[in-house]
Amino acid sequence: MPAGTTSGTPQVLLAHHLRQLKLPTILREYDKVARECAGDGVDHPRYLLRLVELELIDRERRMVERRIRAARFPAIKSLDTFDFTAIPSLNKMLLLELVRCEFILRRENVIALGNSGTGKTHAALALGLAACQKGFSVAFTTATALVHQLMEARDERRLLKLQRDLQAVKLLIVDELGYVPLSPTGAELLFEVFSQRYERGSTLVTSNLPFEDWTSVLGSERLTGALLDRLTHHVHILTMNGDSYRLKQSAARRRSPTAADRAEQNQVITETVDPETGEIGKP
Ligand code: ADP
Ligand code: MG
Repeated sequence: MPAGTTSGTPQVLLAHHLRQLKLPTILREYDKVARECAGDGVDHPRYLLRLVELELIDRERRMVERRIRAARFPAIKSLDTFDFTAIPSLNKMLLLELVRCEFILRRENVIALGNSGTGKTHAALALGLAACQKGFSVAFTTATALVHQLMEARDERRLLKLQRDLQAVKLLIVDELGYVPLSPTGAELLFEVFSQRYERGSTLVTSNLPFEDWTSVLGSERLTGALLDRLTHHVHILTMNGDSYRLKQSAARRRSPTAADRAEQNQVITETVDPETGEIGKP
């Protein structure tokens, strides 16, 4: 219906216009808030202000949810559930500083290094979630999946588009560099991604290997040097060596297994985001 049409009841027209203007919260709330405002003796500008504020709050929440979905996190985790005492080698102050996401504004990188099960992925997910909540676009992937995606895109002649998309995100998280050696082509494609993001956007890499062993994954000494040169120019390093949290937990469970423990063990995602509020909670 064109704007300015006079037929139909005002409510029908209003609903139509609010939908067209994409103001779903005002549409849902205007009647209830009108009654509240009448009761409180609130004037029209303040009524409108209340409605617009509700829409803004809701819109921000919808955008956070959209960014979280777009990031493709394998699980939603935050530092609220991170036990710092389990990993004494980790610089807690640094991680707490990083979760404020100012490193993303400065386009700095983060590398989390340590053996398996020490919370590297957990920390990466927490940083990714915080970035989404602070308004940054995020993409989460593993080194193997990313290389696979790049090779596929190259074969299908859409590598440039993928490279541009990867360059555009404010925080690219590449998890698990080191478990699987990459082919020479794969390593070169990965190098290109890091190189294209250099000083343009933040990259977070987790690896079970110390830097001196990265050649075993990337193949060539020359490529590893060039990649590390770019990645570590502006970098925060999270050292996460210690006992595996997984092993410690399952050892504790074996000592005193409870039904709740067993149920928890079977859960892949330990926390969820409430789609209504965007808040993190346990299912
Ligand atoms: P990594 O990536 O270093 O191999 P993960 O982050 O996958 O380790 O951790 C393995 C499991 O243990 C995950 O479920 C993670 O949430 C949990 N975990 C690891 N470290 C901690 C910690 N310090 N506090 C709470 N949970 C942890
Ligand atoms: Mg991991």
